[in-house]
Amino acid sequence: MFTDFTEASTFVSDNGIRLVDLKFSDLWGRWHHVTISAKEFTPSLMNTGVGFDGSSVGLKSVKSGDMALIPDLGTAFVDPFSEIPTLSFLCNTIEADTKVLFHSDPREINRRAEAYLLSTGLADESRWGPEFEFYVFNDVSFENGINIASYSVDSVEGNWHNAQGGHGHFIPIHGGYHAIPPKDQLHNIRSKMAITLEEIGVPVKYHHHEVGGPGQCEIETPLMGMLSACDASMLVKYVTKMVAHDEGQTVTFLPKPLYGEAGNGMHFHQQLFLEGKNQFYDPKSPILLSQMALYYIGGLLKHAPAVLAFTNPSTNSYRRLVPGFEAPVNAFFSMGNRSAAIRIPKYATEPEKVRFEFRPPDATCNPYLATAAMLMAGVDGILNKIDPTAEGFGPIDENIFSWTPERRATIKSLPTSLEEALKALDADHQFLLKGQVFSEELIASWIQAKTNEDYQLRARPHPYEIELYFDL
Ligand code: GLU
Ligand code: MG
Ligand code: MG
Repeated sequence: MFTDFTEASTFVSDNGIRLVDLKFSDLWGRWHHVTISAKEFTPSLMNTGVGFDGSSVGLKSVKSGDMALIPDLGTAFVDPFSEIPTLSFLCNTIEADTKVLFHSDPREINRRAEAYLLSTGLADESRWGPEFEFYVFNDVSFENGINIASYSVDSVEGNWHNAQGGHGHFIPIHGGYHAIPPKDQLHNIRSKMAITLEEIGVPVKYHHHEVGGPGQCEIETPLMGMLSACDASMLVKYVTKMVAHDEGQTVTFLPKPLYGEAGNGMHFHQQLFLEGKNQFYDPKSPILLSQMALYYIGGLLKHAPAVLAFTNPSTNSYRRLVPGFEAPVNAFFSMGNRSAAIRIPKYATEPEKVRFEFRPPDATCNPYLATAAMLMAGVDGILNKIDPTAEGFGPIDENIFSWTPERRATIKSLPTSLEEALKALDADHQFLLKGQVFSEELIASWIQAKTNEDYQLRARPHPYEIELYFDL
């Protein structure tokens, strides 16, 4: 929004701004914030920043936790949810003593990935279009250890969990795709989310009710530059949760909140541009995708098991990647096929619109790291001419779930657990280290922390185990 401090400071005084809010992402993709008085918004803030303890948000070890936040002036927005006029900034994090940008700051890793792309000369810009799927619940209770995930939809008639239903109009299980009011009772709430996003500078392409019924929603943004798309992702999560919260409802992006219902994906549409031209477009190709796009797809599918450690980094991620819910299970590309890991949308035929979407990711990812990892895998594919067809990644336009298990076994599977993805990342991460985008240290601490999450889950008895084994 602002290009220099004077501009920002004039805005503060001209618009009665009383507080300045500094937001930053931890390694896992969760925002944290600290709020200062507008009187403290002075030029020196841009050099010294506002101090915080990086060890308390997982960015640093306890013994060297001192860090500081420097507002990124281009990210300013007036926080629509603050009662007192508040100007918000997304921040970069610096080392408190040396003032250098923190090497493992997610936004900094993201910027390094884009810089690496530039250094290859292949493109001068990557563009990203994330899709946001989420459920709106009006009945989430964590009291007495009960939570939504311990129930199946089937066992409770499918209609207990949100504001839907009543008056004879309700969305049945799996029946929500583009449902219309009065069945779609979330239309107004989604419109509020979309308009609020637009008002703070995040364009919204469209919103609609999704397949998961009742209560699954989708909001899509147009394609944007990489860092902007990631910042926008953080804002989409914030705004959707806050609008719902103000209406007494709860939004969750959890990949698989309900057994037997569609999961929440975060598909990423991707493109590379050079001097304003879409490098993924080739009018001579029958599928309109260039050789460069195909090599990028080859890289992404070849490295997919490792990439999923960043794009699908939760234990719950792998409850979504199961057959039957339009979520991918195998590593192949396709025109139109929603069980494919990569889908080439048939409707995107204009030169600047031609693209593909990578379907495995979900919103438990840190978007800054997830997009960086996908880009590095794709660029590796281009540089090493990884041909997806020669590697056995398709194209496949049939429903592979109608194939015999033997035939299906010929296509590489995506990881089926967080543990598998983390092992793949451990074995295959040289492509992430190029241009010093990711560091060995960061990958090691990611694997360690996520392995611990996996262990913590496995160490807990599961409600369904009670049903299966209690009486044995
Ligand atoms: N909800 C599906 C998923 O888990 C995607 C549905 C769609 O194609 O939009 O990825
Ligand atoms: Mg969708
Ligand atoms: Mg999609």
